[in-house]
Amino acid sequence: MATAQTAPAYQFVDHKFDVVVVGAGGAGLRATLGMAEQGLKTACITKVFPTRSHTVAAQGGIAASLQNMGADSWKWHLFDTVKGSDWLGDVDAMEYLTREAPAAVYELEHYGVPFSRTEEGKIYQRPFGGHMMNYGDGPPVQRTCAAADRTGHAILHTLYGQSIKHNAQFFIEYFALDLIMDPDGTCTGVIAWNLDDGTIHRFSAKMVVLATGGYGRAYFSATSAHTCTGDGGGMVARAGLPLQDMEFVQFHPTGIYGAGCLITEGARGEGGYLVNSEGERFMERYAPSAKDLASRDVVSRCMTLEIRDGRGVGKNKDHIFLHLDHLDPAVLHERLPGISESAQIFAGVDVTKEPIPVLPTVHYNMGGIPTNYWGEVLNPTPENPDRVTPGLMAVGEAGCASVHGANRLGSNSLIDLVVFGRAAAIRAGQVIDREAPIPSPNQASVDKIMARFDRLRYANGSSPTAKLREKMQRAMQEDAAVFRTQESLENGCQRISAIWKELPDIKVSDRSMIWNSDLVETLELENLMANAICTVYGAEARKESRGAHAREDFSSRDDVNWRVHTLSHLDPDGTVTLSYRPVHTEPLLKEEDGGISLAKIAPKARVY
Ligand SMILES: Cc1cc2nc3c(=O)[nH]c(=O)nc-3n(C[C@H](O)[C@H](O)[C@H](O)COP(=O)(O)OP(=O)(O)OC[C@H]3O[C@@H](n4cnc5c(N)ncnc54)[C@H](O)[C@@H]3O)c2cc1C
Repeated sequence: MATAQTAPAYQFVDHKFDVVVVGAGGAGLRATLGMAEQGLKTACITKVFPTRSHTVAAQGGIAASLQNMGADSWKWHLFDTVKGSDWLGDVDAMEYLTREAPAAVYELEHYGVPFSRTEEGKIYQRPFGGHMMNYGDGPPVQRTCAAADRTGHAILHTLYGQSIKHNAQFFIEYFALDLIMDPDGTCTGVIAWNLDDGTIHRFSAKMVVLATGGYGRAYFSATSAHTCTGDGGGMVARAGLPLQDMEFVQFHPTGIYGAGCLITEGARGEGGYLVNSEGERFMERYAPSAKDLASRDVVSRCMTLEIRDGRGVGKNKDHIFLHLDHLDPAVLHERLPGISESAQIFAGVDVTKEPIPVLPTVHYNMGGIPTNYWGEVLNPTPENPDRVTPGLMAVGEAGCASVHGANRLGSNSLIDLVVFGRAAAIRAGQVIDREAPIPSPNQASVDKIMARFDRLRYANGSSPTAKLREKMQRAMQEDAAVFRTQESLENGCQRISAIWKELPDIKVSDRSMIWNSDLVETLELENLMANAICTVYGAEARKESRGAHAREDFSSRDDVNWRVHTLSHLDPDGTVTLSYRPVHTEPLLKEEDGGISLAKIAPKARVY
C-alpha cells in the first residue's frame, strides 16, 4: 500500500485496488460485499462511519413480492413500478429490479437481517403507497418487508458486518474529492482526504463505484441527513459527464411539521390516515381507490391543495394532521416504535392520543448519475444513447438506472440498493481483467483536483459557506417545489445561477487539514450546487407534468414529446446544456417466455 510521492504542495498516499467503492450506505455496502466475495481487492471509502449513512434512517421497509401475506407476483410489482414512475422509468431495469427482489430479500435474511415475522415465522410484509394487487386494480398488496420501523438500520448493520467478514478494506471518515479521469474518458480512481489526520490519498482502481446517496440537502426542509449532499453527482459533473432526470424530486407527504423528520408511509400502511381542518379524510375524495395509500407525489399534491384552499390545520392553517390514535397501542408499539418516539420528541405528540402535524418534505432524488441496469455509468451520444463510461459505476440514490422514473414508490429504494449493489458486483466480476495492471493516475487530472481543493481551502472572499447554502436551499424550496410554474422555475434558474456566480467569492475561515468541517461543508456546497442547478434548469425546460414534476401551466403528461430522459451537462461557469435520451420501453423477457405483456405496461392515465 502506502508509497508516498511528492506533487506540487500536497503529498499523496497511494493505494491500488481492483475496486474502490465510494459510499457505505446500503448500496455501497452491498456492492462492496459482492466485490469482496468474489476475491476482488476492494476498498470502501466513506465520509461518515458506515452505519451512520442515511440508509440507517429508512423506516418503512423493502419491497419484494414474497407472497407471505397474500397473493402477489413480480409482474404486479413491475406494473406498479412502471405506473409509479409515470412511464419514465427504463422497463428493462424495472423488470430486473422486481424479478430479482425476492432473492435479494432472502439473501438479506440469510446474511442476518432481523425481519419482523408473521405468526408462521415468515417475513412480515405491510401495505405501502402505490403497491397494489392485479396490475393496479387493487386492493393494496402487502409487499413491503419490514424490521419494525427500523428496516434500514437492520440492513446497514448486517451488511457492514458481512463486508468486514469478507475482508473488504474500509477507509472511514475519508472525504472523496474527485474522480481521476484519463484523457480518453476512462475513470481510473479517486482522490480522498482523510479528515482525521489530514493526509491526501490517491486510490487507483480498475473500477470506481459511486454510492454517495442523494442530495436532499439542496432544499431547506428535507427528511435526509445533513450528509446527503450529492457528492457523487458533483464529481460526475466535474468530470464532464451528464446527470439524468434531475428535475424529479420526491416530496414525502409526512415530514413532521417544523422539524422535517420523517413519519414513515408504513404509518398509513398500518391504517393511519390524513385529515384537514374540517376533520375530513380528504384523500377519499382525490383517490377513491387507494385513498391514503396513493402514490407519494399524488398525496403530497392533495395535501398542498387542501392547505391552499384554506383547509390546513393549526394556527396558520399551514399543515395537515396524521391520525394514528385509532390504532391499537399494542400495534403501534410493535410495528411503529421509532416513529412514536420521533413524534414525541419532534412534535411533542403522544400518537396514541393525538394526531401528528405533518407537511410534504423533500425526501428522495429520482434523478442522478445515468446507468444501465448493471450499474455502469452512461455517457450517451446521439448515435449511442447507451454508451458506457469505462471504469465507472453508480448505484443507489446517487444513480439513475432508471427504476423510479418520475416518481419512486415507497420501499422501492431499499430494494434498489441491494439489487443493483449486487448487480454492479456481478458485472464488475465480468468486466474486470484480473491479470491487467492497475492503471496509474493521470497527472493532469490529479493536478486539477488538487488545484480545486487548494482554491477552496484558501478561499478568502466575503460570503461564508453557510450563507450561500441557505440562499440555495431557500431558492430550491420556494421555486422548485411540489407545484411549479414557468415563472417560479425561471425565477429558480436565475436565483441559482446568481448563487453560482457568487461561489468564487466564498469565504472559508479554517485553513487546517484536520477535522476542518468548514472546508468539508464548502466542498459539499459545490456538490449541492451542481445538483441544484441541473434540477432547476431541467425542470424549467420540461413543459409537462409527470410524476413528481407537477407544473400548473402544463398540467398533463405529454408522452409524444416528453417521454424522454433529461441529460444535463454542466460547464464550470455554471452553464447547463440539456439533451435527451430515449426511455427503454422493452421488457427483458418476452411475454411467451413468462414476461409481462407490452399491453399491460403501455402508457395510460395514472389514477389511484
Ligand atoms: C428518513 C428516510 C427514510 C427512508 N425510508 C425508506 C424506506 O423505508 N424504504 C425505502 O425503500 N427507502 C427509504 N428511504 C430512501 C432510502 O433510505 C435512501 O434512498 C437510501 O438509503 C440511500 O442509500 P444509498 O446507499 O444510496 O446512500 P446513503 O445511505 O445516503 O449513503 C451514502 C454514503 O456515501 C458516503 N459518501 C457520500 N459522499 C461522500 C464523499 N464525498 N466521500 C466519501 N463518502 C461519501 C456516505 O458516507 C455514506 O456512506 C428513506 C429515506 C429517508 C431519508
